[in-house]
Amino acid sequence: MAINKSVKLNLLENSQSFLVEAVDKAIGAEDEVRHWQFAILNLVQSLELSLKLILKNIHHLFIYENIDNPKNTVSVTKTIERLSNPKIGNISFTENEKKGMKSAIKLRNQITHSEFELSVDHAQAQFFKVFSLIATVQRRHFDIQVEDILSVEAIESLVVIEKSKKILISNALQRVEDEGIEDHLLWTCPNCLSDTFVVHDEIDTCYVCTYTESVKQCPHCQELCFEEELESIHNSLDIDYCEGQAIIYNSYGYDDLMACSECATRIAQEIEERRAHEEMDEQEYYHWLSEAYK
Ligand SMILES: [Zn+2]
Ligand SMILES: [Zn+2]
Repeated sequence: MAINKSVKLNLLENSQSFLVEAVDKAIGAEDEVRHWQFAILNLVQSLELSLKLILKNIHHLFIYENIDNPKNTVSVTKTIERLSNPKIGNISFTENEKKGMKSAIKLRNQITHSEFELSVDHAQAQFFKVFSLIATVQRRHFDIQVEDILSVEAIESLVVIEKSKKILISNALQRVEDEGIEDHLLWTCPNCLSDTFVVHDEIDTCYVCTYTESVKQCPHCQELCFEEELESIHNSLDIDYCEGQAIIYNSYGYDDLMACSECATRIAQEIEERRAHEEMDEQEYYHWLSEAYK
């Protein structure tokens, strides 16, 4: 008789144990960024497993990349796609949830694949965002409360960490009020994710975590945005590379190559359409030529 040596993985238990591990790392982390790093990794893993379980509960084949050949399980991004698909999961994640999941996955990939700088403030803010997402998923889809998974002590410690952040935020908002800064001049800080990044008077600093980043005007729509968010549109132009130098054949009238992401998308589309038109004109011209010389 063949002995089945494989352990049947229980996705729910697995996702919960990653959550416990993540919280454990976070509680002991304090200002140690390396601990926060592992807290985030465990947390995103827990989120991924929770999402896969919802998919599996709809049909066990849905967690496979290829349902005709169920070998590899789907990526987390594909999982979210399938869950959002009205014909499969039909879950309408809010914009906030979608954004939260996307940035958490991006952060996990950065931690595991590339060289980058993680700040404690950023890790902490991301941690609480993903944590509340997991809590929502567990409650909504499995009818499980956070207190069923975590110990009372663990929850209390988390509350303490979050409270200290709240004090910093309320202090910052008081300063904003004292300085008479209007709401529209407060942006979400890319570092600590609280809405306390002041763009007033070129201050360009977060009043909670002191993160600074230059804010620039997009040359095409004149909207303000973080300098890091401006992207180059050079890939949309007719360009050739020769001995390490880029030669632009046609810039389609765009002299300033930096654009905000909305303008970059719009410009890329516009150039694409103009190219298609020019190609059509050319074809018509050759057609006319061949007709004329018949
Ligand atoms: Zn900040
Ligand atoms: Zn723009």
